[in-house]
Amino acid sequence: MHHLGMFDAVFVAMLICCFAIRIPREIQNKRSKTIESREGAKGHFLLMLAFTGSTTMPLLYLFTPWFDFADRPVSMAQGGLGTLLAIAGAMLFWKSHHDLGRQFSPTLELREAHALVSEGIYRKIRHPMYTAAFTIGAAQLCLIGNFVVAPAFLIAFSILYFARINHEEAMLLEHFGSAYADYKQKTNRLLPALRR
Ligand code: SAH
Repeated sequence: MHHLGMFDAVFVAMLICCFAIRIPREIQNKRSKTIESREGAKGHFLLMLAFTGSTTMPLLYLFTPWFDFADRPVSMAQGGLGTLLAIAGAMLFWKSHHDLGRQFSPTLELREAHALVSEGIYRKIRHPMYTAAFTIGAAQLCLIGNFVVAPAFLIAFSILYFARINHEEAMLLEHFGSAYADYKQKTNRLLPALRR
């Protein structure tokens, strides 16, 4: 391996955990029927961009010299913070996939017998999986010793999030009507309310 500092190893562990959480869900998702899909070419492109930032670029950084020109040191404080964010991000990534269950899909769509999920972590916030992705992006920013590869997922995911979030909520509002409107009133998007 080209690079493997202590914090690169933390990053790799986080990446492996995320794939271990995600892959079975993607398989489960493909097995159920889609009743409505709202993902266009732009959405698919942005998903690919997020994959590039989270996976392709870090792998190139780890295994090839291509990004060496942008290498930078990672301090203990920065790496320590990154490690905490990686643990928190991976845990929330797991919890959100678990609680969303068969309602999960990587793209914007409604599955057969799609139920509104408002329990578990979804009781506190409407988009915990996106909170997890931002946390994982922040972890990557801290852990990777390279100023091009470190921010890549955070930037790519931010673009995906802002392009998607209103469409996702509009789709759920149309499908679930007042149930989603009520749920929306009781929750924030990404961070729990400090007090009700
Ligand atoms: N935005 C959510 C879910 C991401 S997965 C999160 O960040 O946790 C994307 C899919 O989840 C969308 O296609 C949508 O159909 C579904 N979804 C999002 N919120 C939902 C909810 N409260 N109940 C059921 N399905 C939901």
